Amino acid sequence: TKYTAADIRKIAQEEDVAFLRLMFTDINGIIKNVELPIDQLDKVLANKATLDGSSIDGFVRIEESDMLLYPDLNTWLIFPWSSEHGKVARLICDIHTSEGDEFTGDPRNNLRRIVEKMHQAGFSAFNIGPEPEFFLFKLDEKGQPTLNLNDNGGYFDLEPVDLGENCRRDIVLELEKMGFEVEASHHEVAPGQHEIDFKYADAIEAADNIQTFKLVVRTVARKHGLHATFMPKPLEGINGSGMHINMSLFNENGNVFYDEHSKNQLSQTMMYFLNGLMQHARGLTAINNPTVNSYKRLVPGFEAPVYIAWSGKNRSPLIRIPMARKTGTRLEMRSVDPTANPYLAIAAILACGLQGIKEQKDPVAPVNRNIYTMTEEERHANGIYDLPSTLHNAVKALKEDPVVISSMGEHLYKSFVDSRELEWSAYRQTVSKWECDQYLKRF
Ligand code: GLN
Ligand code: MG
Ligand code: MG
Ligand code: MG
Repeated sequence: TKYTAADIRKIAQEEDVAFLRLMFTDINGIIKNVELPIDQLDKVLANKATLDGSSIDGFVRIEESDMLLYPDLNTWLIFPWSSEHGKVARLICDIHTSEGDEFTGDPRNNLRRIVEKMHQAGFSAFNIGPEPEFFLFKLDEKGQPTLNLNDNGGYFDLEPVDLGENCRRDIVLELEKMGFEVEASHHEVAPGQHEIDFKYADAIEAADNIQTFKLVVRTVARKHGLHATFMPKPLEGINGSGMHINMSLFNENGNVFYDEHSKNQLSQTMMYFLNGLMQHARGLTAINNPTVNSYKRLVPGFEAPVYIAWSGKNRSPLIRIPMARKTGTRLEMRSVDPTANPYLAIAAILACGLQGIKEQKDPVAPVNRNIYTMTEEERHANGIYDLPSTLHNAVKALKEDPVVISSMGEHLYKSFVDSRELEWSAYRQTVSKWECDQYLKRF
């Protein structure tokens, strides 16, 4: 462990920290936090900070609402930006019941449960390197986000150095102050769209990092008069924002996806893991793409996957094997978008991969052609099927996938399905501008 309770007390005093934010993530992937004055630190370190679970989406009912926040001391961090009232530190917490048991409705506890299964299966780490993408929009005079972009840049564009470029640099600097190792940061394909990639980490730390990342991006953007959004498809007709997930599985000897003796240096274990992801691709979709808007991104023509296929060469499929070998040997799942709850997504992906390793079956052949130029008949002849096309279809596919369901456990599964069905039913009742444009005069 990085910090003991004594370390934290000492640092808080030396650094003159004034406030402590206790953070956790609800079922919909939204970061929640409770802020306490630093004189409550002892109470926090004694796992006595409380929370009303009934006011958090997907947690508990009113009659069992008292919950405890158990801080993970390794997540101690002082935010680098200053507030006029003094320094703010944070701790990411696990949720426990009032009796002190791990609460099974907490996505972070659930991820730890699946990581434990991975350890039992003989592996030491599930390393995740995420590639989150986001848009920067201008704020209006009232500080509200608009849909006005602030640049016309494209992929890897450098010139002109504009608002977005400066903002992204500032984000990278703040992230580095917080201990993130940023590996790449660039303008994405769409105007106003950016990507920042940071170094891989083991499952729980990776999920924590994704949540912290989003918080930093939004906070810094605001200081630049911009609104950062992780909404998957804010504007029609241009690329949406994904969050590709690069993953590799390690044991004491290193990356088990690498095998120097095999063809392509890819191990048999990697092929089994890949098959697990392929078999459960439909069931995983509701978790990886949990919003109505997620499915506006998963359409042909915008570099987002639509079909269930994998490739070592081509970038269009759902799963790609990047060129890197040795320690860098990895799978890249390209469907995931940044609205996914990272704790749920990483747990579900890992559980499906482990299931694949257990079943020891090879995946279907890779597809190295452009799938988008194939006819439906050609696709089916090559064993290529579609990802669910709407949130409704994705939830249906989840309900038919016992492996993905058990990756969530009963409590999370039930609240997740309830919340997604509610969202779908609200959406169904709306009438869009597109419909009026199409039908009002025609019929
Ligand atoms: N923005 C694309 C997506 O929706 C990805 C583009 C890229 O990283 N090559 O996934
Ligand atoms: Mg990338
Ligand atoms: Mg990208
Ligand atoms: Mg990528």
